[in-house]
Amino acid sequence: MPNRAVAFDDLWKKWTYFALVPLEEGQFKVWTWGRFACLGDSVHKMTPNAGQGGNAAIESAAAPANQIYLLLEETKGAGPTYDQIKRSLSGFQARLDQRISAILKTSNDLTRAHALKSVAARIMVQYFVPQMGDYLVDLLSDMYIGAELLEFLPPPHRFLLATMPFNLTQGLGKHESRLRRALWALPLLAMSALTVRTMTMAGLMYPVFHGIFETSRFEWKGVF
Ligand SMILES: Cc1cc2nc3c(=O)[nH]c(=O)nc-3n(C[C@H](O)[C@H](O)[C@H](O)COP(=O)(O)OP(=O)(O)OC[C@H]3O[C@@H](n4cnc5c(N)ncnc54)[C@H](O)[C@@H]3O)c2cc1C
Repeated sequence: MPNRAVAFDDLWKKWTYFALVPLEEGQFKVWTWGRFACLGDSVHKMTPNAGQGGNAAIESAAAPANQIYLLLEETKGAGPTYDQIKRSLSGFQARLDQRISAILKTSNDLTRAHALKSVAARIMVQYFVPQMGDYLVDLLSDMYIGAELLEFLPPPHRFLLATMPFNLTQGLGKHESRLRRALWALPLLAMSALTVRTMTMAGLMYPVFHGIFETSRFEWKGVF
């Protein structure tokens, strides 16, 4: 079939063997206990569609490394106590919990979209995704930019140059709450409403101001 694109359907018609593989997904509530810390898939297992499981596992190795580094800095000279170690390790989960939850949910949602699980997924995949262009890349980049950084090493220079540079305070799972943002915007909305109202008032007051400018005298003729 020269010059003809090969569709998945063409391959599927010729299968000789296939298997359905169960994909686990889940995030444990407790990642550490005493001196023990569990990393990677053992505590946050996501489906592979977004290609993030391994990245998340690397991050969940970087986070305790940062915690241990901080602990050693704090306890310079004296060895850390059991309680300090315990606190330090549990801090690693606190650092990552929100971000990993967001990545895990995105990966798992993507799996359902790829599987065309719902009507919404079908519409999204067939009609919207082909039109999304660079936005898809932005969505993916949004997952990477807030990744855990080894704090005792300088960040790779190129990470800071891109159009969506590395930034620990941004990215998936770290977005501002929409409600909070709306609340902050309320005073601005109030000011806009006031401006519109004042401008309307200025229109109503025009005859009064006009008279003052023309005659340099103020005579109340009653506007309202
Ligand atoms: C099909 C597929 C595609 C993927 N594609 C990507 C991708 O593109 N990008 C990405 O980032 N991630 C991807 N992932 C996810 C990634 O492979 C995993 O998230 C990652 O390997 C998890 O690393 P881990 O070290 O936590 O666990 P694992 O890699 O599972 O390592 C755990 C190790 O512990 C060993 N072990 C288990 N029990 C014991 C025991 N009792 N004693 C001693 N050893 C034991 C196991 O044999 C294993 O070697 C994909 C996963 C799948 C299934």
